[in-house]
Amino acid sequence: MTHRPKNIVILGSTGSIGRSTLEVIAASGGRLRPVALSAHSNLDLLEAQARQWCPGSIVATDPAAAERHDWSALPDGVQLLTGAEAVADVVADAEVDVVVSAIVGSAGLHGTWAALEAGKTVALANKESLVGGGPLVTRLAAERGATLLPVDSEHSAVFQALQAGRRTEVRRVVLTASGGPFRHYPPERLAQVAVEEALAHPTWAMGPKITIDSATLMNKALEIIEARWLFDLRPGQIGVVVHPQSIVHSMVEYIDGSVVAQLSPPDMKLPIQYALTWPERSEGVAAKLDFGRAMQWEFEPPDPDRFPALRLGLEAAETGGTTGAVLNGANEAAVAAFLAGRLAFNQIVPACRWALDAHTFDPHPTLSQLVHLDRWAREEVSRWVSA
Ligand code: MG
Repeated sequence: MTHRPKNIVILGSTGSIGRSTLEVIAASGGRLRPVALSAHSNLDLLEAQARQWCPGSIVATDPAAAERHDWSALPDGVQLLTGAEAVADVVADAEVDVVVSAIVGSAGLHGTWAALEAGKTVALANKESLVGGGPLVTRLAAERGATLLPVDSEHSAVFQALQAGRRTEVRRVVLTASGGPFRHYPPERLAQVAVEEALAHPTWAMGPKITIDSATLMNKALEIIEARWLFDLRPGQIGVVVHPQSIVHSMVEYIDGSVVAQLSPPDMKLPIQYALTWPERSEGVAAKLDFGRAMQWEFEPPDPDRFPALRLGLEAAETGGTTGAVLNGANEAAVAAFLAGRLAFNQIVPACRWALDAHTFDPHPTLSQLVHLDRWAREEVSRWVSA
């Protein structure tokens, strides 16, 4: 039993997951307490959060933006730190119990790494940490006795369903995918998809990068890689099924044929809360399923021609090494180019394919090699887009 509140650090507190985390904390009846918050550019919101929660410290990771911001209304007890390096200091504080790693993209690896190095429990929303650095990140966690808990809804579902049997009894996991808004579009129509269309996700309200990733199914490709490292699975043990209602968040199939699933309405507050209260459960703020009304849930296999991203995910889970970092960096650059109107929607995956084929594979990269390759992949995709 914990008698004092669990002390939570939120890296990326102004993003979609960060804001939901604060809602979960607000509803925890004092059992959870934010002790540090970090944000990159939305400093108005960071300051408003600091005024509401009075955490011990806040980190503005972009020093230039921090310099421009007027901090005169910041409460006296809140320490202001600037620059990405300050993240390592706040996560390592002895009082910290859980670090929520919710910075979008490969920029989130730094904070995940620092928290694991300090032996903390990390609630991982930043899937790119595992996609790019899976073998290194999981080895670091093991060496430091740190715990990685999934916040991604599919992986939270798998984590929960894995508690129904022994690891040796698992045949495979099946990740569900909403299929995004274009699941029935003819392939030629995908060339004309506008940015606004791609940003309108049918079931989940999320940030722009992950919403585009959901529309290409690259999000599911990245989640295959994430699952491979998080649960130490063989790539052949990971399947994907399209489930448009986003109620069944993923499943584990056992060797006797039993399939154990986790179900709830699509609301990130549930997986966030489970990671924060684990191994306990508590009353939640997330919406509940209502079996008093009729529901229909559909499942269909994903069409690999319409969604070629899945193949890249399976390939990266299979080959490991430098492949995940290159795929992730290339995809981030390609999504940014699409959002800026410089790349067609159906060229996002070919841009990633091109970067993967152009890179020099290394099965046992170092962290600095991965950081370098992430930058290299972005530059290659930018060149490819403007060629
Ligand atoms: Mg997910």
